[in-house]
Amino acid sequence: MKILVANLGSTSFKYKLYELPDAVGATTSLGEKMIAKGGVERIGSESSKAFVEANGKREDLVIEARDHAAAVRLCLSQLSDPARGCLKDASELGAIGFKAVHARGVSGVRVVDDRVLRAMEDFNDVAPAHNPPYVAAMRLLSRELPQIPLVAAFETGFHQTIPESRKIYAIPLAWTESYGVKRWGFHGASHRYIGQRTAEVLGKNDLKVISCHLGGSSSLCAIDAGKSVANSLGMSPQTGLPHNNRVGDFDPFALPVIMRGTGKSLEEVLSDLANRSGLEGISGHNDLRDIEAAAARGEPRSKLALDVFIEAVRHYLGSYMVALGGADAIVFTGGIGENSTLMREAVCANLGFLGIEIDPKANQTAKGEASFHEKGSKVQLWTMPTNEELMVARQSRDLLLAQ
Ligand code: ADP
Repeated sequence: MKILVANLGSTSFKYKLYELPDAVGATTSLGEKMIAKGGVERIGSESSKAFVEANGKREDLVIEARDHAAAVRLCLSQLSDPARGCLKDASELGAIGFKAVHARGVSGVRVVDDRVLRAMEDFNDVAPAHNPPYVAAMRLLSRELPQIPLVAAFETGFHQTIPESRKIYAIPLAWTESYGVKRWGFHGASHRYIGQRTAEVLGKNDLKVISCHLGGSSSLCAIDAGKSVANSLGMSPQTGLPHNNRVGDFDPFALPVIMRGTGKSLEEVLSDLANRSGLEGISGHNDLRDIEAAAARGEPRSKLALDVFIEAVRHYLGSYMVALGGADAIVFTGGIGENSTLMREAVCANLGFLGIEIDPKANQTAKGEASFHEKGSKVQLWTMPTNEELMVARQSRDLLLAQ
């Protein structure tokens, strides 16, 4: 089955086209192929930039893509060009899959319909950076390309197996039951991939894995035999670890103090917490590379930001070692997890008492899919590029085949 996985921004559409074996629930890379990738940027302008990469060749084009539907139509016609041979025509496409973030009362994998879209809109203010552009583009696509099924794989879906005791906030239970206020967990596609891929690489399904997705937004996930049992993100993607510009864990009783001190409204303070906090709030820099460089120059705020981040990762790491009763592997992914040797070394330092022994030399050179633990380490340490799109493709395939 061929599935196009879409990554939407408010003015961009990027995709990867996969061909997957028609086998419900298959979780190994056997028989899977990414046939093409491409997309359109600057949608809505007269000079939108489109590209397509297939059969080892890349082509770039400047065109006018009025809206997301026009961009998708252009991409489908590029893929259906017999010279590329990716699709016979658009009807060969099983579905367009989306990594959707959050919806009120809806999780897992769903065919996009009006109920799903309304449920996403209901949580626009919980996931303000993600839900509004997705809902707008999905509405347009379902109207303009009704022949292609749209599938939403929610980031919260992987975390449905987390026990209630780790999901429930200690608030009046009626708020949890009536308004869905609980720890939903996010980054589901990435952690699901790390769980499946680690099992494939280590050749064993019954593994205890701690997946550390560290990037522009970051979270840790405890995975037991392929199932999520804890995730550091909560009701919203703003919680848990500090993110590049989002706050992470925070005490709501500080809100009135900040509002009185700054004279800002609740909405303004929430916007500051979602856009001008996290590593950027402490250090003044948004990108971890800049923060590491500034800390190396002796800038105290950047040094502090690094320390706060490292402490937060180690806090959840310790908690998940306890939740799982030890771990077979700790896997680092995301822009920071895959590239920052400094961060990996600091997170794993002095944890021999937990069976975690880093090989600092191997850590320095670990790139792509590679391990960096000492030979005798009880817990294996790995870095792995994640593949969220592949998870959305597999889940979309499973849903359609099961229908
Ligand atoms: P997103 O969560 O937005 O998808 P990524 O997973 O791509 O983001 O991660 C982006 C983060 O990765 C940025 O903060 C960037 O600084 C960091 N990063 C990328 N390369 C490096 C590197 N070589 N060293 C340290 N941090 C890096």
